[in-house]
Order: sequence, then C-alpha cells, then structure tokens
Amino acid sequence: MTELLGVSRTALMDAVAGWGFKPIHGQRVWRHLHAHGRDDFASLERLPAGLAATLATHTSTTWLPVARDTISSDSFTRKYLLTLDDGRQVETVLMRYASRATACISTQVGCAMGCVFCATGQMGFDRHLTTAEIVGQAMHISRVLAGTGERLRNVVLMGMGEPLHNYDATIAATHILCDTAGLALSPSRMTLSTVGVVPGIIRLADDREPVSLAVSLHAATQDERATMIPVAKAWPLDVLMEACRYYCDTMDRHIFYEWTLIAGTNDGPDAAHALGRLLSSQRAHVNLIPLNPTEGYDGLPTHHRAAKAFQAVLAEYGLPSTIRQRRGIDIAAGCGQLAAHG
Ligand code: SAH
Ligand code: SF4
Repeated sequence: MTELLGVSRTALMDAVAGWGFKPIHGQRVWRHLHAHGRDDFASLERLPAGLAATLATHTSTTWLPVARDTISSDSFTRKYLLTLDDGRQVETVLMRYASRATACISTQVGCAMGCVFCATGQMGFDRHLTTAEIVGQAMHISRVLAGTGERLRNVVLMGMGEPLHNYDATIAATHILCDTAGLALSPSRMTLSTVGVVPGIIRLADDREPVSLAVSLHAATQDERATMIPVAKAWPLDVLMEACRYYCDTMDRHIFYEWTLIAGTNDGPDAAHALGRLLSSQRAHVNLIPLNPTEGYDGLPTHHRAAKAFQAVLAEYGLPSTIRQRRGIDIAAGCGQLAAHG
C-alpha cells in the first residue's frame, strides 16, 4: 500500500498512467490532496470511473491523528502529539506571532545525536520518519490554519530528530511541500537545522537544495563543543567549518548558526569573542536561544541582559544576531523540549 502523502506529483502521474489512466488525472488527484487537504477522490469531478477505486486499493492517506493538543498560556504556541501508523508518536508545533504562522516539524522519532541539553536527544533514537509522515505534519498544520482562513508559509525542520541523519526522506518531503501545485511553500521560508552532519551539508550544496540552512554550534572550540554534542567527535569543528564555507560558496548564501545560551557555560565574553573570530570571515547570522529546561539537564538559561551583552560582542565582529523569543515553554514546546512520551 503506497502512502500517498509521500509520493511526488510526477511519481503519482506515472503511477496513474501505469494503471491505464491519463497522467493529468494523477495531477488532479495530487492537487486535491496537497492543495485542498482532501482525499475524498470519489467526489472529484471529471475523474474517470474507476480511478478513485484503484487509488483506494493501492494507496492510503494517513492524516496523523492528534493524541494531544496543548495551547500555551499566551496562546501563541500550540503543540500537537501526533500518532503514527505503528503507534509511535511525534510532536509538531504551530507558532503564531507577528502575524506569521510557522510549523516546527519533526524528522525522526527520538534522535541518535545525544546532545546533553535536548529532550529529544535524552530519549534516544527510535526510528526515522517517512516522507509521508514529515509531509503529514505540515499538512496537519495547514489544515488547522485553513480552518481560520490562514495559510502556512513558514516551516522549520527543527522538531524532534536530526534531519540530515534522515536525508532522503526529509529532502523528498521538502520537494513535495514546495511543489507549486500543492502547499506551494517557498523554499527560502523553509529552514533545515542540523547539529552539524558534515556529509549532509556537502550533499545539500552539491544537490543545490534550495532550503535555508541552520547549523547548531553552541561552542566555538572543538573541546567545548564535544562535551555538549557527542557527534562533534565524528565531525570536528574545523571539518564542519570547512563544509559550511563550501556550502556558502556553492550556494552563494549565508548560514544561520544556532547557539543555545547556557548560563555560566557558553554565555560569557570569551565565548562571544571566540564565536566572533570563528565566523567573522563567513556570511552568517547567529540565532541565540536561551536554554529551555529539560528533565535530563541541570543548566540554566542566560539572562536577557547577558544575552544582549553577548550580542554586542558579536556585533563588534560584524556578525548579525537575533535573540530568539522564548515561547511555548509552559507547554514544553520550545527548542529542544520536544519528546514523545505519550
Ligand atoms: N537536530 C537539529 C534540529 C532540531 S533541534 C539540530 O540539532 O539542529 C533545534 C534547535 O534547538 C537546535 O539548535 C538545538 O541545538 C536547540 N536546542 C536543543 N535543546 C535545547 C534546549 N534545551 N534549549 C534551547 N535550545 C535547544
Ligand atoms: Fe538531536 Fe538536535 Fe536534539 Fe541534538 S539538539 S539531540 S541533534 S534533536
């Protein structure tokens, strides 16, 4: 049984042709599914008799049922616990601020990278998500927004998991979500965040993938980084920086660097200067994320004043930066807080 949400438009047109129908009918089905969020194909006009039944025999559409729906106290953030076909669960977040809706999507159940301060890392790796399951999360958010006449425009692949550890399924999903006959998201409004999987960064550049890239740094020396991110041992900082430069040169664009600010650990002037020196020759934008609490890590977030001071040092190196607003913390929907314990 083919999971329809994970099939590209051209692949569906080919399959429909293989069943003896015209490719254009496959296109109509695909559009009904992705642009209108509907799989009641029998109700489609001008569809040849038999195609809806053939689809029902050979394909299925899983809309990822909602096991839990939580809204933050300020009502800007909404977190969904979604159930997959095999009973496993993932979290997907809808953020609404500055009149902009953003979906934060997961790419794996758990994560193998083991970053010490991250709830997903603390739960370990369970399995990769399929393309259909990644697309399904965006479709869920899109359908929620459609109910209030809004459109999904921004997607961040920053939920549970490491997207470049699940490269093929993730990239196939970005293509489907950007298809102009479907949700038609703009690739530049889709940001993929990686812990620093070097072969994946090089492949993104070689494949000229148009999504925006964010790289999680958190430390500007190899030794410090390796204590926070175990996989930094596999892809040391100098190798990572070389891959980032290759990406920027090949793609002719900048990278967002993420820096989780942990009080007394990586938020002092020395760390800020080290980061400034590391990135001063690069086209970069730094996103500073005050640490969000997780069960398995004792660290505390940097105070806003210290974050501002950190930002001022980066400015001395000509490095633009943003302090990410803390939202959805009361429902554990902030960066690094997603986990699915049912
Ligand atoms: N695996 C990818 C994307 C998911 S994590 C990555 O690591 O980049 C999304 C972002 O949240 C990353 O920058 C990550 O470092 C950050 N993060 C993880 N745990 C956090 C926490 N407890 N507080 C704040 N940010 C955190
Ligand atoms: Fe995985 Fe990213 Fe969490 Fe690290 S921060 S454990 S890479 S999800």
